[in-house]
Amino acid sequence: MNKMTPHLTTEAEMHADLARLRATFASGKTRSLDWRRGQLKAILRMLKQEEKAIIGAIQADMRKNWVEAYTSEIAAIRKEAQYALKHLKKWTAKVKVPTPLLAAPGKSWLQPEPLGVALVMTAWNFPFHQSLTPAIAAIAAGNCVMIKPSEVSENGTRLIAEIYPKYLDTDAIAIFQGGPQETGVLLEQKFDHILYTGGGTVGKIVMTAAARHLTPVTLELGGKSPVIVDKSADIQIAARRIVWAKTQNAGQICINADTMLVHESIKDELVRAIIDHLKKAYGDDPQKSPDYARIINERHFDRITGYLGNGGNIIHGGRSDRDDLYIEPTLVEGLPEGHKLLTEEIFGPILPILTWSKKEEVVEYVTARDKPLALYIFGTDRKFEDYILANTSAGNVAINDLMLFAVVPGLPFGGVGASGMGSYTGTQGFVTCSHFKPILKRGKRMDLDARYAPYNKKKEKTMRFAWN
Ligand code: NAD
Repeated sequence: MNKMTPHLTTEAEMHADLARLRATFASGKTRSLDWRRGQLKAILRMLKQEEKAIIGAIQADMRKNWVEAYTSEIAAIRKEAQYALKHLKKWTAKVKVPTPLLAAPGKSWLQPEPLGVALVMTAWNFPFHQSLTPAIAAIAAGNCVMIKPSEVSENGTRLIAEIYPKYLDTDAIAIFQGGPQETGVLLEQKFDHILYTGGGTVGKIVMTAAARHLTPVTLELGGKSPVIVDKSADIQIAARRIVWAKTQNAGQICINADTMLVHESIKDELVRAIIDHLKKAYGDDPQKSPDYARIINERHFDRITGYLGNGGNIIHGGRSDRDDLYIEPTLVEGLPEGHKLLTEEIFGPILPILTWSKKEEVVEYVTARDKPLALYIFGTDRKFEDYILANTSAGNVAINDLMLFAVVPGLPFGGVGASGMGSYTGTQGFVTCSHFKPILKRGKRMDLDARYAPYNKKKEKTMRFAWN
């Protein structure tokens, strides 16, 4: 793909786009279920017709292999759009609730209604998934959407700007292209909801800007997701799945295993198994493997490789090549407390290893830190599993695997505490992008006299009864 200077949305274009989206929303066009279905189907059509271009852009940015690129940037989005289409009628239906005696006779219900114009801001590691998944939720709920992809995934973002307007209704869906400076101006505008995916530092900027307009936010952030391996674990399964997760997109995934906490009695065996599985998957030199991805750019390459050194022993890997943006899958142990590999989100193919002997140490380690986006437990001891689940908090949990909760449509994906707030997937995504307007419709027939002045003892008694 050719390197071209990306078009940056000018302020004038941004204002024109926003005015158009607001006018479209006010016209009621996006409230119609036909419009929503039409847009969701257009997304499905786009994924089908542009599959090659989308995978090409992803490969140009990160050299992801076909399976990875297809799974996350085509299949997962398609599932999300299909799920929304399948549930749209049910989601948009009134939700009846009982009416108490005080308001009887009457009918009460919740009426889902769209919020208005939503802003979708994305990170760079899954440009299509992170722009379309929240957009699907916003569209299903009947909103207009301004999509701001990350400037870092250059090829992905360029393709987004090129193809989304070809398939989607440009009266209701617009693309904003820009980096931090341009986005600062965008964030000064009033939106009705912001769906943000990215790091916590920018998350705070987004939330601060949103607060000025009292705009609600959904923040999908990151953090350090631990993988806890108990002595009861099946070592081969744990090793194979940890290797799978840690090497996907060369570790540049928010829910990746960021630190491995393994029972001391099985550490050596697990490490040997991890090295074995790494070799099976990528050979002796992963740089030569067509299946191993690259780091997105020099800045992130320097950040990740900069974590190595200053203490700790590299027990496997450690090679890198800046010209090729390649970092070998690397295992590090013996890290001193406070080492960057233990304090910063790695977002790369390095796995720090810590050991423990008592389960309380694991809980102490996890709870002393920010609540992670994901927590993983490998083991067959149910008591251990229950203990960890009951005593820790995390956005999402997988037991005996990693990351796959993200493919279960009934499990809303999202963080907690420093790893985020809210969710934009599945049914929860529709809820996030809607206001469930509570409505009471009274009948004329009966009127509880006791609510009207002048009051007396009898009315007091009636009210006491009515409130029970
Ligand atoms: P980032 O925080 O640098 O950027 C995210 C977005 O914010 C981009 O669109 C960028 O253009 C914009 N931005 C950057 N600086 C800005 C500024 N000063 N003002 C306004 N906007 C600004 O994140 P990233 O490097 O793109 O992604 C990596 C982070 O995202 C990691 O922490 C990772 O865990 C997290 N992430 C989370 C999820 C999730 O679903 N929870 C998914 C992917 C990535």
